[in-house]
Amino acid sequence: MKQFFCFFIFFYSLSRSQDIYRPTDTANYIYKKDLISKLQEDKKAFVQSARLQPSDKRKIYNNLYNSIFDSLIRDVNNNEIYIYPKLEDYIRSIVSEFSSYGDNAKRLKILISRDETKNAYMTMNGMLIFNQNFLTILENENQLAAVLAHELGHNVLAHSKNKVDKYVQISTDDELISEAKQIKKHKFNKNKEAESLLKSLVYDNQKKNREDEIEADKKSLEIIKQTKYSTSEILRLLKILETSDIEKDSLTTEDFHKILSLESADARLFSGDNLSEYTSIDENFFKWNIDSLKTHPSCEERINIVKNLEGNQNQVFEKNNLIFQELKQAAELENIQNAYLLKNYGRSLYFSMLYLKKHPNDRFAANMLSENLKQLKTARESKNYGKYIIFPNPKEHSKSEQLFYTFFDNISNAYLDKLVIQAKQKNKP
Ligand SMILES: [Zn+2]
Repeated sequence: MKQFFCFFIFFYSLSRSQDIYRPTDTANYIYKKDLISKLQEDKKAFVQSARLQPSDKRKIYNNLYNSIFDSLIRDVNNNEIYIYPKLEDYIRSIVSEFSSYGDNAKRLKILISRDETKNAYMTMNGMLIFNQNFLTILENENQLAAVLAHELGHNVLAHSKNKVDKYVQISTDDELISEAKQIKKHKFNKNKEAESLLKSLVYDNQKKNREDEIEADKKSLEIIKQTKYSTSEILRLLKILETSDIEKDSLTTEDFHKILSLESADARLFSGDNLSEYTSIDENFFKWNIDSLKTHPSCEERINIVKNLEGNQNQVFEKNNLIFQELKQAAELENIQNAYLLKNYGRSLYFSMLYLKKHPNDRFAANMLSENLKQLKTARESKNYGKYIIFPNPKEHSKSEQLFYTFFDNISNAYLDKLVIQAKQKNKP
């Protein structure tokens, strides 16, 4: 374990300049403590504001505010939200360009998350949460600016607050409540009616999401137009988001053989029932549900709307291309480490393999591969393996992920031990 941490420091001192990187522990503790007390404060203020609501709505507001803030506090406690000073400072320097939205822009608090989803979102108390892994798909600072302007757009338009209001409105709507009660009374067709009620509620929310996304896009265009950044990069960003969930660097059985030094006789370990059911159509649509940036409407529709309003063809503007490139280069490795620190050992192993496919000699990724295999071995011993190596599902996993889960599901304890030893030996300097 000791060796492992030395390696981290070695890696960091290579990839980041010494003066910015702060080794974790103490700084982390103070940061966490301050952030949690700020969140507690905001939660208190929102819960207090619920008292001003009409009595039938008060309790629902109260519950919603509590659960929204408690889940944020949980993310801080779990270290999912973490300190990444270089990225935070960089994002702040870009946001400072949005001077036409002075107060809103100045008040934004930037938080970085280890969540692997390529996404960013606004909380209702004005915190912009940027998932570090988003950097892996952005091509330049201009696109990062477009993401931030879109999120600032949501903030300026108070979308999070409106969503909560809408939810409360739906759940206290007399007509809907009596409709639901009616359904309870009828014995026949109960399911069907309940389903259609549910559908109308979901549809209503989707319509709201759709409107919100288009409004935020328009707002981002307005914001970007008043900076040196190019508005056409908003279109490029939407284009990237459209295909961002389609895995571009899939693993093949051949990659497994190379990366894990398998023997050709091991080919049988890749067969599983589920793989044959795989279809490439709509491969990744399930992942879009939680995404605030690319849900509804489709990116294609949004591109068309923005295209008609665009018309500013500035050159791609960059305040600091060097920092962007540096952060982007570190992003995939950072993501491997983040998944490991969040104890998602299966995911971290998978990311390590994807990285090693492109960079076979990378020592950090090779070390992470070895550490993750060790964790899986421990998990096997404590009957926790299923937490990290889940059952492959063609509806949820890309073909490459299915191959990964099938292989690690098929291997015996002795085989896993062998992989752990091999990876360790390969890592010797
Ligand atoms: Zn959005």
